[in-house]
Amino acid sequence: MATRVSILGATGSIGRSTADILCSNRDRFEVEAVAGGRDAAALADMAIRLGARFAAISDEAALPALREALAGSGVAAAAGEGAVMEAALRPADIVVAAIVGAAGVRPTHAAVQAGRTVALANKESLVCAGYAFMRDAREAGATLLPMDSEHNAIFQALGRHRPDEIEQMIVTASGGPFRTWPAERIAVARREEALAHPNWSMGAKITIDSASLMNKGLELIEAHHIFSVAPEALGVVVHPQSIVHGLVSFSDGAVVAGLAVPDMRVPIAHCLGFPDRLGTSARRLDLAAIARLDFEKPDLVRFPALRLAIEALRAGAGAPTVLNAANEIAVEAFLAGAIRFGDMATLTETILQRFGDARESGVTESVEAALALDAEVRAATASVMSTAWKSTY
Ligand code: NAD
Ligand code: MG
Repeated sequence: MATRVSILGATGSIGRSTADILCSNRDRFEVEAVAGGRDAAALADMAIRLGARFAAISDEAALPALREALAGSGVAAAAGEGAVMEAALRPADIVVAAIVGAAGVRPTHAAVQAGRTVALANKESLVCAGYAFMRDAREAGATLLPMDSEHNAIFQALGRHRPDEIEQMIVTASGGPFRTWPAERIAVARREEALAHPNWSMGAKITIDSASLMNKGLELIEAHHIFSVAPEALGVVVHPQSIVHGLVSFSDGAVVAGLAVPDMRVPIAHCLGFPDRLGTSARRLDLAAIARLDFEKPDLVRFPALRLAIEALRAGAGAPTVLNAANEIAVEAFLAGAIRFGDMATLTETILQRFGDARESGVTESVEAALALDAEVRAATASVMSTAWKSTY
């Protein structure tokens, strides 16, 4: 019987790569629902291409355009947060969670609470609300398959193991476009420079996070939750070629690494086929042609966002929630040209200090409490920006 898949964030970078894999394995899959943010035309195209039964768009104003684009196709359409929730909850064997940012928390959490198998790309779900999210996943008997390339590599490297046999987990970072730049130049990097990632083609938010190394910090927090590994046992190594994605070292000194060319279709196919292997048209790895793999320590001075994320991971409780929310607002502001590249980390640090006592156990106990803190932090970040920050420009 075909595997039924729903895609949340179907029009994005991960959503489109997921669609490629589904289309090249048509006999194995059928698509139940697709959900997107505001691009009605792209969502309708995707729904028709995949033969989805239901298309949900978050922006209610986009519903007439979606209905029109789907006319005669037989795909049902709906709009609003409730419609995206419906897409998450429709019967499916795998829900691909690929909405960007904390907007993905509620629908992803709903799929988890319904006990689904969730292929998780939306790392912000775990950074914002990881403690409660993982507990709810366990209680509901949901399965989480890590789609983020580093976590997927670690998942594949883990094999059968006991937790006490794992010494360390390492995620690699390409280092982004500013890997060799001096701090003064990074501080004033332009939008186009930050969006020019050397190895990966991704959505705007994660591309900016990759340039600041915040993405790697978010990934440490993601790894902490998804693999239940202590913060001290997690590490980052910069690896400019992006061939080795994640490594696990075991108690006997053995290290197992996951390698592939930097193409998200590889981890996506792994999640969609799991435990089987699907075919993909990703370029094959030719190590002799690549010739060398380099590794270096991350520089926490030139990349303060990574330091902030490591501190938030160690502090626990509400700190990762605050980090994630402040960072989302900062990235939006940078993309809109309202603040400079270096201001993103400064702003996030200011907000982390302001919410320094966001230690409420509530954040670890319920996803809704984490989302309430997320909303509070967003408002505070926007307000700091409109006062202290605006005057500088
Ligand atoms: P993207 O910006 O390309 O796509 C985001 C998707 O989310 C779009 O389909 C958009 O319409 C949808 N969306 C936004 N707000 C929504 C809302 N409120 N309701 C419903 N849909 C909404 O982003 P992306 O690069 O595909 O990344 C998606 C997620 O996957 C992010 O969390 C990112 O960190 C993670 N991820 C991405 C990559 C990658 O290679 N792109 C790799 C690893 C992890
Ligand atoms: Mg990643």
